[in-house]
Amino acid sequence: MNERAGLSPSGTTRVAGVIGNPVRHSLSPVLHNAAFAALGLDWVYLAFEPPPDGGAAAVDAMRALELGGLSVTMPFKEQVVAAVDELSPAAGALGAVNCIRWDGDRLVGENTDGAGFVASLAADAGFDPAGRRCVVVGAGGAGRAVTRALADAGAAAVGVVNRSPARAEAAAAIAGPAGAVVGQDAVAAADLVVNATPLGMHAGDALPVDPGLLGDRHVVADLVYHPARTPLLDEAAARGARTLNGLGMLVGQAALAFEHWTHVRPPLETMRAAVAGRAVG
Ligand code: NAP
Repeated sequence: MNERAGLSPSGTTRVAGVIGNPVRHSLSPVLHNAAFAALGLDWVYLAFEPPPDGGAAAVDAMRALELGGLSVTMPFKEQVVAAVDELSPAAGALGAVNCIRWDGDRLVGENTDGAGFVASLAADAGFDPAGRRCVVVGAGGAGRAVTRALADAGAAAVGVVNRSPARAEAAAAIAGPAGAVVGQDAVAAADLVVNATPLGMHAGDALPVDPGLLGDRHVVADLVYHPARTPLLDEAAARGARTLNGLGMLVGQAALAFEHWTHVRPPLETMRAAVAGRAVG
C-alpha cells in the first residue's frame, strides 16, 4: 500500500486484468479499480481480449510481463488450465480457472466462483448451507462451481436439475456424496434454490422453476444480475421467500481474487457500490 491513491499509473504500478472474448462489457475493471483506489493501492486493472484460442498465450504473457493477477472469463476458463503451473482444489475439480495468482514464481489457477457465491449467501441472505438441502438449476460452468461449493460448505444434499441429463450427472458427481440428479419437484423440500441458467436475462424467458413450488421457507438465489430483479426473484419474493441476485457472487468471487493478488482484505462495500448501479435493468 502507498499514498498514490487517485494518481496516474507510474513505473511502480502493478498491473492486473481480465482476459475474455468478448470482454468490453466486463464489470471487473470497475470493481477492482474502485477497490484499489479505496485502499490507495498502486495497482491498475485492465481488460484484455485475446483471440478465442489465445488463453495459453495470455498466461505466458502474464509470466513474461509479471502481471500481478489475472481474472479469466469465457472462453478461456478451460484453456488456461494446462498453462498454469498448479491448480487449486476447486479449479482442479471443475477443470476451470477464473483467477490466476502468483505463489512465489509459480502461477496458480484458482476458481473463486463457488466460494464467492457461498460468501454472498452469508452476506446477502444470512444463509449458511451447512446441513441444509439445496437445489441448483443449471449445470454449466456456474452451476458446477456453485454445486461443488455448496457441498464443500457442508450442505446435506445438493440436487441438480438440468435440461441435459449428462451435464446434470457430471455436476452432481463434482459435489461428491451430497450431490444427486433430481427433478424439479425436489424444490418443494429444499431450503435453498439457485438459478444457474441464463433464464431471466431476457424479457419473455421461461421461469427456471415452477414458482408454485416456492414459499416462505425458501432462500432463492438467482445468479443472473442483469436485470437485478428477475421474474424468478419477483415470483419468489411474492411467495415470501428470501431472495438474492447474482451481484453478490460477482462481488464475492472478485473479492477473493483481489485478496489472492494483493494479500490485502478487500473493501467489500466499495466493490458492491461500484457495480450496484450497473446491475439494475
Ligand atoms: P453455461 O455454461 O452456458 O451453462 C448454462 C446452463 O443453463 C446449462 O446448464 C444449460 O443447460 C442451462 N440452460 C441454458 N438455456 C436454458 C434454457 N432455455 N432452458 C433450460 N436450461 C437452460 O453458462 P454459465 O457460465 O454456467 O452461466 C449461467 C448463468 O449464470 C449466466 O447466464 C450468468 O447470468 C450467470 N452467472 C453469474 C455469475 C455471477 O457472478 N453472478 C457468474 C457466472 C455466471 P444445458 O446443459 O442443457 O445446455
